Amino acid sequence: MLKKTILKLSVCVLFVFIQAAAAAQPDQGGDAAGMSPEGSGEVVAQLQKQALSSGLAWQLLSDLTSEVGPRMAGSEADARAVKWAVDRLKTLGFDRVWTEPVRFPRWVRRHESAEVQSPHPQRLAVTALGGSPGTNGPLEGRVVQFDSLAALEAAPPEQVAGKIVFLSQRMLRTRDGAGYPETVPIRTRGPFVAASKGALALLIRSVGTDSNRLPHTGNISRTETGNPAPAAALSNPDADNLMLMLGRDDPVVVRLDLDVGLDGEATSYNVIGEFDGREKDGRFVLLGAHLDSWDPGTGAIDDGAGVAIVTAAARLAAGLAERPRHGIRVVLYANEEGGSYGGRAYAERHAQEVDKHLLGAESDLGADRIYAFRSAVLPAAGPVMDGLAKDLANLGIERDPSGAPFGGADVGQMGKLGMAMVDLEQDASGYFDLHHTANDTLDKVDPESLRQNLAAWVTLVYLAANSNVAFGPLPAAPQP
Ligand SMILES: [Zn+2]
Repeated sequence: MLKKTILKLSVCVLFVFIQAAAAAQPDQGGDAAGMSPEGSGEVVAQLQKQALSSGLAWQLLSDLTSEVGPRMAGSEADARAVKWAVDRLKTLGFDRVWTEPVRFPRWVRRHESAEVQSPHPQRLAVTALGGSPGTNGPLEGRVVQFDSLAALEAAPPEQVAGKIVFLSQRMLRTRDGAGYPETVPIRTRGPFVAASKGALALLIRSVGTDSNRLPHTGNISRTETGNPAPAAALSNPDADNLMLMLGRDDPVVVRLDLDVGLDGEATSYNVIGEFDGREKDGRFVLLGAHLDSWDPGTGAIDDGAGVAIVTAAARLAAGLAERPRHGIRVVLYANEEGGSYGGRAYAERHAQEVDKHLLGAESDLGADRIYAFRSAVLPAAGPVMDGLAKDLANLGIERDPSGAPFGGADVGQMGKLGMAMVDLEQDASGYFDLHHTANDTLDKVDPESLRQNLAAWVTLVYLAANSNVAFGPLPAAPQP
């Protein structure tokens, strides 16, 4: 038994040795050239060290939040953000910088207010949901509460018709952000379900984990059919207060005034910057983040941080004395918040070029530390992922075996066409305290965490861009 184990062990050791030896052959066009399971040694160590002391991501983020600030898609500030990004990528020395137009319905927010009329008059902290129609002047209605979207869906229309529906479901805090997809249908689908039952309007508890008196905005569904009810989110404490009133008095009447709505069409731009690789073969690693933001904050964590991280990572990796083998393309997407318009436009335009996209990754979950990564690549690229695991372990990042990467709302659109993807997973425990609120500002970003992100990203970018193995294309996922 012991003998057998030793034999097995030595076979295993031998196998590892062969793998490592093959990987150590420089540039022979073999499977794992430049990509040893030992990691890429000194170059990666140098890049990580540089990233951990770099001020570049912070500089970009503080410039974007101060020089542009809130930049809702289709607004005047969005146009300034596009110009800012083009100028900045040029200044950073990208070999090519260009824009690609993205068209979408423009939504505008002019005024929003809500107050309890009776029995205990007081104002409520409220914000309209993106894509919501206005109320056409103030409307008043009796509030009917449901603790989930399923409960509203099950309710007979006569319980809802002519009333203001209040969905009180609370989002749970988790490290991986899983509470968000569980709860967000109250925001995306709620307005359509409420309207289908004849509701006057919809109020939701903010999809957020904080207890600040700041409501969280965010979009209603773009794909749901039918007309949505006018819809707005209450801050968590205001939702609590409304529940207290409903628990002791009936009826509770609220007055809601939303002067918001669709306002024609707008064009914004995906801003794209590319560094050539030393082989100039037209193939590249795709890094994405979105340039637009919601309007209450300055879009620091969503997604200024992502813009800063991926831009700085590309710059650092391309700044090596010897460029990585393949190119690095950064796409700063237009109008993610309104429904991934930039990501979908990019995937449509570049659908025939999936094979040029070696690997894609997106940064759009704030600025906290990365704790894990997961990947979907061809088996031949397994050793590169082993090398990545080893190099990321230096930064406290583990391998997440939980399944296929998400790829992000924008970059994931190319993933649907078969592009290989890696998720660098950020700690989202605190993200949904700030997300889509007036509290999404620069002071919430920890510079040290931002540098840890940069170090992880530059590791991924270098290993992927310098590899000569095929990460994809993978069999394309079924289209929704
Ligand atoms: Zn975002």
